[in-house]
Amino acid sequence: MTPLFSDTIAALSTPLGAGALAVVRLSGPAAVEITSGIFSKKNLANQPGHTLHYGALRDPATGEIVDEVVVALYRAPRSFTREDTVEISCHGSDYVVRQVLALLLRQGARLAEAGEFTKRAFLSGALDLAQAEAVADLIAADSALSHRVALNQLRGGFSQELRDLRGRLVAFAALLELELDFGEEDVEFADRTGLARLLADVRGVVAGLLRSFELGNVIKNGITAVIAGRPNAGKSTLLNALLREERAIVSAIPGTTRDFIEDEISIDGLRFRFVDTAGLRDNPADEVEAIGVRRTRQRVRQAALLLYLFDLTEMSPPEVLAEIQELTAGLALPVLAVGNKTDLATPAALAAFAAGFRAATAGPAAGMPLVLLAAGQNHGLPELQTALLAQVRGSVLENTASATIVTSVRHARALEVAAAHLAAVQAGLDTGRGTELLAADLRHALAALGEITGEISSEDLLTSIFTQFCIGK
Ligand code: GDP
Repeated sequence: MTPLFSDTIAALSTPLGAGALAVVRLSGPAAVEITSGIFSKKNLANQPGHTLHYGALRDPATGEIVDEVVVALYRAPRSFTREDTVEISCHGSDYVVRQVLALLLRQGARLAEAGEFTKRAFLSGALDLAQAEAVADLIAADSALSHRVALNQLRGGFSQELRDLRGRLVAFAALLELELDFGEEDVEFADRTGLARLLADVRGVVAGLLRSFELGNVIKNGITAVIAGRPNAGKSTLLNALLREERAIVSAIPGTTRDFIEDEISIDGLRFRFVDTAGLRDNPADEVEAIGVRRTRQRVRQAALLLYLFDLTEMSPPEVLAEIQELTAGLALPVLAVGNKTDLATPAALAAFAAGFRAATAGPAAGMPLVLLAAGQNHGLPELQTALLAQVRGSVLENTASATIVTSVRHARALEVAAAHLAAVQAGLDTGRGTELLAADLRHALAALGEITGEISSEDLLTSIFTQFCIGK
């Protein structure tokens, strides 16, 4: 097989900075020869792929040893890029890494650009575009769920679903072509109801994938949950308890939490980004606090979830509900009502509060979950976490039957374009538009789907995707 690229690229593939080990990677037709030229022990050119070799790297100009290393050899096409690839594990100091890279460049390698290894893997057919992008997601994944989604995409789950989808669209297009061929002979060939059913099916799959994007976004970026409530309800205390770190300012003076403190915790593999807000009160005591209240309402509007916290010894159920209603007026926002300071109330009073809350919730608020806890005592936090998960699962995470979850904005855009063209095909079918026009819309839809896996791609698109990677990936 003639190689796709004539040059050999090299880069540090592990993070910069001191570490026990660093891995410098080379890929390209001269990868083995270049490494062999500075390797002290043996002629690597004679060695088979998938082997490890211990030895020293020596500067041929001075004869000086740069480092003791382990070299891993991969022979084309059995490597990530499908080219000859060498991974040099050296000692992880910036100085050593720079020396090793300088040696390799002097021997004829070129410094790799951002994402160039993965780009080569794509261009050589080892990965499709969606899979290549999953490599970046996998590197960035920092929760169990985002890792699982990226890995599924890398293994081709998403690509397979798209291929099936395209296959069905091509079948649809073939039926239309038949109609075109036989149109003049007035043959009822592809019956319209059959076409409509196939189209509805395909549109359903696209719509499902688009819905999964909301979930994908949540998995990748976390859920923004705003904690709001009156001053002294215990917001900072709760946030601290949740974060298990003393980051928020806890104070007994009402209205002292004026800044927003954001942090993330992972519950069951899902990331929640909690935002503490300034105390809410109707008549802010001073100017600074008035600004804080305004910003709180703004934050609530941007949140995916509202956690309304109140001191259950100070507020009645109707007061709590009235304040929640005011905060969420006009918003379809999942809300969790959380009563704090259970340690200050008797069990009978708590039961009465819960019953009163149930009785007072009606209309859209009916069924709003209520959690009673004592943030200051670290009491009831697991119940709160369970309620948070349930609330998010019930709203944001619904429709997750599909194993495939779209996480990339680029993919979502392409799916939207495909959906729009499919809607045009549907409208054309409904109004009896000419078959040629239907076929044209269908081709646009196919092209949009093809952009996701890279079956149809432009150089611009590739550049914009791969430059988002770091050097060495
Ligand atoms: P924020 O203004 O809503 O942020 O409220 P803080 O977190 O600053 O808490 C206000 C006061 O309530 C502090 O004195 C906390 O120690 C106290 N507090 C918080 N949680 C509890 C609790 O569960 N029980 C009791 N008894 N006091 C609490």
